[in-house]
Amino acid sequence: MRLYLLRLGTVPGLQAPVPGYLIRTDDGRTVLVDTGAVPGTPGAGAGIQVDEGQDVVSTLDRLGVRPADVDIVVCSHLDPDHTGGHAAFPEAEFVIQRSHLELARSGGVPRLEASRPLWDLPGLKYTTVDGDTELLPGVELIASGGHVPGHQSVLVRLPGTGPVLLAVDAIPMSAALDPDARPVFPFDLDEAELRASTRKLVELARRENALIVHGHDAEQWRSLRVAPEFYA
Ligand SMILES: [Zn+2]
Repeated sequence: MRLYLLRLGTVPGLQAPVPGYLIRTDDGRTVLVDTGAVPGTPGAGAGIQVDEGQDVVSTLDRLGVRPADVDIVVCSHLDPDHTGGHAAFPEAEFVIQRSHLELARSGGVPRLEASRPLWDLPGLKYTTVDGDTELLPGVELIASGGHVPGHQSVLVRLPGTGPVLLAVDAIPMSAALDPDARPVFPFDLDEAELRASTRKLVELARRENALIVHGHDAEQWRSLRVAPEFYA
């Protein structure tokens, strides 16, 4: 099994990555987590920089993966910096927490309304899950709401590296690892749930001795293996 960390753009100011993740299993399954950003998206995606060739399709192409090869797209959540490339994967199964999809479809969150043209497409097939769920052997979805209700993180168990926890936006940077003292960012919707999810993920990582990969941490990503390198 291999895990690729994909840099699909840059958050201006922070110089932080817009993350995506690619998992290739030993039995030939291809799982993509999030699809990056498109430039010019309003709201939470405003100002995000996507360089030439940095979009998800071009990035996967350099790894020898075509959109039709992707079996599953895991949606951490539907913010515009995580959904920019959804339209490219009409043949994939999109897996999302039920509470998040229902909230987004309800129209109750303005920034998810702003990104609706990216994710609410008639050709996309969504499968919902409720809470922590084994997606495939060695790949677990971990419910981690708070940033938005129904956000999910992903635990990947690699044979050599060991477990890697893709926290995504539940713990977007290492400065947010302390459940009680962590900052709450402008786009975090539920502070109490956010702190509970931070605690849950940190305790999970400690129990499993997992490497936590943060969603938008410029400094951490400089020290990580980013595609075309990979973890195995
Ligand atoms: Zn994000």
